[in-house]
Parts: sequence; structure tokens; C-alpha cells
Amino acid sequence: MSLLHANTSLKPAYVDLHIHSTASDGTLSPKEIIKTADKVGLRAIAIADHDTIEGSVEALEHQDSSSVEIVPAIEISASFDYGAMHILGYLIHLEDVSFRQTVRVVQEARANRNLQIVKRLQDLGFDISYDEISEASGGGQVGRPHFAQVLVQKGVVQSIDEAFIKFLRKGRPAYVERYQLLPAEAMQTILRAGGVPVLAHPFTLNAKTEGDLDRIVAGLKQAGLKGLEAYYPAHGPVRTAQYERLAHRHGLLVTGGSDFHGAVKPEIHIGFGRGDLRIPYRLVEELKQSALSSKYSD
Ligand code: AMP
Ligand code: FE
Ligand code: FE
Ligand code: ZN
Repeated sequence: MSLLHANTSLKPAYVDLHIHSTASDGTLSPKEIIKTADKVGLRAIAIADHDTIEGSVEALEHQDSSSVEIVPAIEISASFDYGAMHILGYLIHLEDVSFRQTVRVVQEARANRNLQIVKRLQDLGFDISYDEISEASGGGQVGRPHFAQVLVQKGVVQSIDEAFIKFLRKGRPAYVERYQLLPAEAMQTILRAGGVPVLAHPFTLNAKTEGDLDRIVAGLKQAGLKGLEAYYPAHGPVRTAQYERLAHRHGLLVTGGSDFHGAVKPEIHIGFGRGDLRIPYRLVEELKQSALSSKYSD
């Protein structure tokens, strides 16, 4: 007789803490995401949409339709000169008024940027309208992947990737900067709403050396960072081990997720990334511990 599984379900205790829905640039709705997570046997998920909590809000409304636990989340882009800095916020109190206000400011900046991208593409000679982009987004928040989708549909490019390489990424003709929170502002916004700020996919910072990354992480920790996303499809075993050591050195927790986006990144699957991702439920418990220590009060 074994007591090992006495108080657990038969599900393996894996989670996915980085999923995008139709509320931002993913192609599955929160409801469809929960259904898929349930089917593949995940115990918990976080819908961490870019600059919006609507994916998490909707997921919580459907929580009872399965046994998958929903961890409220967001992914905020912060300003950073070298590469892309994305700060994940977990276990935020979604009803927090000042959090919602800050998010709204960021969303307005994004909306303005989107109009300017349309203008750039029109100036480049493409017959493209904002309505078409909005339609591609399915009513959720518009992001560059939706521009990419429309450029593919129109035959301007062959793939989403090509759209970014030729037009949409930094330095290309349809790239437009947008206002972003400073890293410290993004982290404090999350902390004040009772959440846990975690640095997403650290390699996108484009730090030149391990020493540079170490210094950036030390600065972020001073400004409120609580964790690093160590488990991620693009990391591979070497980077994963490097990030585990980095987190340990700075007293940060680790998290992980697939960064599932649906059809715009078809090689990535919910929960398991390219197939080899395994994120234990224990990390959710550590996030909860961290959130408790921040003593949220409304
Ligand atoms: P935005 O937040 O609207 O500026 O769009 C940025 C998002 O575009 C990123 O978070 C990714 O989800 C997506 N993205 C960036 N580069 C690529 C790429 N080469 N292929 C597909 N998606 C991309
Ligand atoms: Fe995205
Ligand atoms: Fe990201
Ligand atoms: Zn993401």
C-alpha cells in the first residue's frame, strides 16, 4: 500500500504559467485554453496576456468548468534599451483600481502605436486598414502579430516571421516605438496589487555576457523583482541551468511556461512547449508564498 498519492488526484502535477489568449495576441480563447489544459492533464495555468488582465478575468469565470487551477497573471512590457524586457505579474488582485488604471495607460499607448503602424504600412503602399487588423485580433487587444497575420493573408509575406523580419521588428520600416513603463514602475505596479513580479524569458534582454545579465538582475531585484522564468521552450538545458543558478544567487524564485500563442506559434504546445517542458506544481506554491509575504491590503 502506498500513501504517496493519498491526497492528490491522479493527474501529474504539471503547470504552464505563461499562456496567451485572444485577449491579446494568442489565437485560443481562455475557455479553449482551459479545455486544452484539462485535456493534457495540467493542474494549473496562468494566462499572462500582454498588457491586459482580460484573459485572466475570463479564465476565472470559466474556472469551474474543469479542475485546472487558474493563477491570475499579466505580462507587462517594460522599457529597456537593449532587448525586450517582459515582466510577468502573478497572483495580482485583478479588481485593484490603481492597477487597472496603470494598465489602461499602457493600453492607450499601444492603441496609438497601432494606428501609427497602419499609417506606416499604408505609406509603404499596402492597401491595409485598421478595421482589418482589428478583425484579425478577434476583438481582443491588438498587437504586432495581428499585423503580421493580415500581411500574410494579403500575400505580402509568406509567414508571420517574415512579416516581423521585413516590417514589424525594431529597425524595420513599420516599427513604431510605444510608451512603456520603466522596469521599476512595472514591478511596483504588480507588487502594489498584491502580485509577484517575475522576469520573463531573460534571454530576450540580449545581455552580452553572463556578468551583464547578473548586474541587470541584481538591479531588478533591488527594484522589487521576485522571480525568474527559468523554464521556457527556447532556453534549452544550458540556459535553464544558468537561470536556475542566477535565481538562486539572487534569492529569486523560478517559474516556467510555454508562451503558447496558438496558431501564430504553432510549434509550441500548452504545458509542454516543444514537447520536453515539464513545470512542477510546486512553483505555484512558491509564488503563493511570495504573494502572502507582500501583505496586500485594499
Ligand atoms: P506588441 O506587444 O504588439 O509590440 O507585439 C510583440 C509580440 O509580437 C511579442 O510579444 C510576440 O508575441 C510577438 N512576436 C515578436 N516577434 C515575433 C516573431 N518573429 N514571430 C511571431 N511573433 C512575434
Ligand atoms: Fe505575444
Ligand atoms: Fe514575452
Ligand atoms: Zn508571452
